[in-house]
Amino acid sequence: MDQTISQPIVSDAEKKKINQIVDYPTLIVFSLVCTVAIIGVPLFGVVYGYTTADWILFVALYIVTGLGITVGYHRLFSHRSFTCPNWVEMVFLIAGGWAMENSALKWCSDHIRHHAKTDTDEDPYNAKRGFWYSHVLWIFRKDPAPNLQAREKYKTALRKNPRIMWQHNHYLAIVLTGLAFPFVIGFLQRGWMGGVSAFLLAGVFRLFLVLNSTFFINSICHMWGDQPYGDANTSRDNWWISLITFGEGYHNYHHNFPRDYRNGPKWYNFDPSKWLIFSLFLLGLGKKAS
Ligand SMILES: [Zn+2]
Ligand SMILES: [Zn+2]
Repeated sequence: MDQTISQPIVSDAEKKKINQIVDYPTLIVFSLVCTVAIIGVPLFGVVYGYTTADWILFVALYIVTGLGITVGYHRLFSHRSFTCPNWVEMVFLIAGGWAMENSALKWCSDHIRHHAKTDTDEDPYNAKRGFWYSHVLWIFRKDPAPNLQAREKYKTALRKNPRIMWQHNHYLAIVLTGLAFPFVIGFLQRGWMGGVSAFLLAGVFRLFLVLNSTFFINSICHMWGDQPYGDANTSRDNWWISLITFGEGYHNYHHNFPRDYRNGPKWYNFDPSKWLIFSLFLLGLGKKAS
């Protein structure tokens, strides 16, 4: 008998290696969110319907958690494009945590590495590995241990901020309160049915959309669009992506001027994150980085 025929295509050693690099808990949670958002949410809507209050809560939480990521995680903590009082930092850390995109410590260190190593194997969401990899698949891949140590340097500055460390240590509790919040609001209005209804729309469906809006920056904004500020890397400007990402679509400008609190530098660019930061300046609650 030819022994080679009975050999498994993937050896046990290789299987073990693959198992080590797939982050199964994240894969399961994201698959669950995706399935409920695509099948459960519309089905519930057809059978029972959603109330106006559910929709208002959905829009409000989309805005709050989306800006938590774009203004907080991205422009404040990753790029330090402005400074603000500690309590304002805490608001952004909680709002960003509610988007379930990992703790600021992890998210921002990945993002700092993305800017430092754009389009290389060291870029966590390297767009040259294809649309789906840069969009979402990279999240399900664990960093191999030797690389993990080398990548600690991207966390050094972040670790010095006690509020970022507090959020990192309480990340799970923050995510759970973010999911419980719409349920409680709905429950107070209409009992269990109201709780489930608000949880599905303003909890799970909102989570799914905010996650994908962030993912679009890493995938679409590194593949399609204009490069008015240079083609040294794959970053591209995409005004229509800005419409759902609070102004983050002007990604070619951003890669060339990462310390600018604006992503859309022109007055007519749709960049609500820039408007919020500018409003903080006017209120004396923020200062442009020097
Ligand atoms: Zn980028
Ligand atoms: Zn950035």
